[in-house]
Order: sequence, then C-alpha cells, then structure tokens
Amino acid sequence: MKKINSKGKCLCGGIKFLTKGFHREVSNCHCIQCMKTHGNFAAYTKVDDDCLKFQSKKTLKWFKSSKKAKRGFCLRCGASVFFKVNKSKTTSISAGMFDKSLKVKTNKNIFVKNRLKYYKIDRSIPKFNRYS
Ligand SMILES: [Zn+2]
Repeated sequence: MKKINSKGKCLCGGIKFLTKGFHREVSNCHCIQCMKTHGNFAAYTKVDDDCLKFQSKKTLKWFKSSKKAKRGFCLRCGASVFFKVNKSKTTSISAGMFDKSLKVKTNKNIFVKNRLKYYKIDRSIPKFNRYS
C-alpha cells in the first residue's frame, strides 16, 4: 500500500478520475472473467471509495458480471476500467488507466489455476490459485 495522488482516464476520456490516498499493489488476475473482459489477464490496483473522485463519468456503465461483483466500462470506447465487489467500500482500477505509472509494483498473480496457457507467468511474482 502506497499513498498516491494520481489521475486516470479511459481511452476516449469519457471516464476521468482522480485518486488520492492508499493504493494497493497491483494484482494480475488470470480468472476467466477478467480474460473475457480485458482480452488478457487483468492488472488492478485498488483504492477505498473515499479516495476515488470522478471528474467525468458520463460514459461509465456498470455490468453485473457475476452474483458477487460488477465491472465498470466506457460506453463509448469500451475500456474496462473498474471492478467492484457488491457492497464493498473499495474499487479496483485497471492499472493501465492512469496517466502516469503508479508508484506501486505488481506483487501477485491470482487465479492462476484458471489461466489460459498461451503466455508465461513472471515467476518472480508470487502466485495463488484463487485470491491471496
Ligand atoms: Zn471512453
């Protein structure tokens, strides 16, 4: 966890946000839902909802991706921006949405059991079959 102020947006800028406060280190998620949403494994940081301020969310749409969670994407450019567990007070943010590199590192691979086998996992990063 690192305290960071940062800015992010989707490809078209319809979703723009500021983050302020603690950001979880990045997790690479290899679950099938992230694969289908992102077209590859997903890299997410996470912040408390209080730390996330929207400057624009006119193209933000939430998709109920399972019984447990929803995913926020841009209606215009299709960017997969957010992941949120129902009733949680935190939001996961795709690490690639930030304008500058976040000062956090990738520190785990999760759901590696479900991954597709066309790529290798960085062995220097701990892996877990489900959540860590
Ligand atoms: Zn967009």
